[in-house]
Amino acid sequence: MKPAPFAYVRAESFDQVFDLLDEHGDDARILAGGQSLMATLNMRLSAPEILIDINGLDGISDISADGGTLKIGALARHSAVLESEDVATHAPLIAKAMPHVAHQAIRNRGTFGGSVAFADPAAELPAVTRALGATFVLRSRDGERKVAADDFFLGLFETARKDNEILVGAEIPSIPDGERTAFMELARRHGDYAIVGIAAQGRVDGDTFSDMKIGFFGAGDQPILAKGAMSALEGQAHNDDTVKKAQDALDADLDPMPDLNGPAEMKMHLARVLTKRALAELAA
Ligand SMILES: Cc1cc2nc3c(=O)[nH]c(=O)nc-3n(C[C@H](O)[C@H](O)[C@H](O)COP(=O)(O)OP(=O)(O)OC[C@H]3O[C@@H](n4cnc5c(N)ncnc54)[C@H](O)[C@@H]3O)c2cc1C
Repeated sequence: MKPAPFAYVRAESFDQVFDLLDEHGDDARILAGGQSLMATLNMRLSAPEILIDINGLDGISDISADGGTLKIGALARHSAVLESEDVATHAPLIAKAMPHVAHQAIRNRGTFGGSVAFADPAAELPAVTRALGATFVLRSRDGERKVAADDFFLGLFETARKDNEILVGAEIPSIPDGERTAFMELARRHGDYAIVGIAAQGRVDGDTFSDMKIGFFGAGDQPILAKGAMSALEGQAHNDDTVKKAQDALDADLDPMPDLNGPAEMKMHLARVLTKRALAELAA
């Protein structure tokens, strides 16, 4: 299929972006890597008046680490995030997730910010950033505001970004000393969107869990922080009873939607399986 007609502007400055966003509001779309946007246009799931291409803007594609915070610019390509030593050192959970984000050709164009702003509940990065307690930086003509990942993802493809704002980056707390990570997903083929996935980080002293942060994707209408499972694990030793308590807590934490992959019950089952495997990996 072909998209409905639209205007296209390659923005040369943030002011130009803000002018166009003010003029067109919800009828404008930011164009980053285009790997999700162009598909939605071609399928006519969306028919904006204008695409505002931000690929010419300076200063929002860098990745850096400073003072216990990893900063990833919105325009950082998935491939750059995958290859970044700063990401591997300060946010190994993101490094583990990146090879699962689509395929190489898509990772060469797709961007960190595009993935976060698109807020696909089956995507890896929204769930990982939620698990890691990331903060997103949104810029408008009035300046910048920061929104915690917990408050950013509002629902199915819905975020707290306002029509006059552009996502410029994310700030992610560096992994504390001694914390471990586990990332797993079940997909029909490597690189496809996951049916269900888990991203976990926390401390395991001996075999006892603490400070666990567990994100799920493909398990609801948005990326999910599994607070019930996290609290069920606090101070508990890794054994069958603890695993079962964490799995049982998922009934309240998750709300998967049936889709072409299968019914909600199947996804709940897969989420329990992944929880058991991820806890075993963390405790190993
Ligand atoms: C075949 C295929 C398989 C894929 N598999 C996966 C997968 O397994 N996991 C996964 O996570 N993703 C997957 N993707 C999606 C891919 O990761 C996309 O790159 C990503 O979701 C969007 O990034 P983008 O830069 O291409 O954004 P775009 O497509 O340009 O934009 C996506 C949306 O975000 C908005 N947007 C983009 N950047 C900004 C910004 N800075 N500020 C405000 N709004 C912005 C756009 O307006 C648009 O609404 C797949 C894509 C394809 C085509």
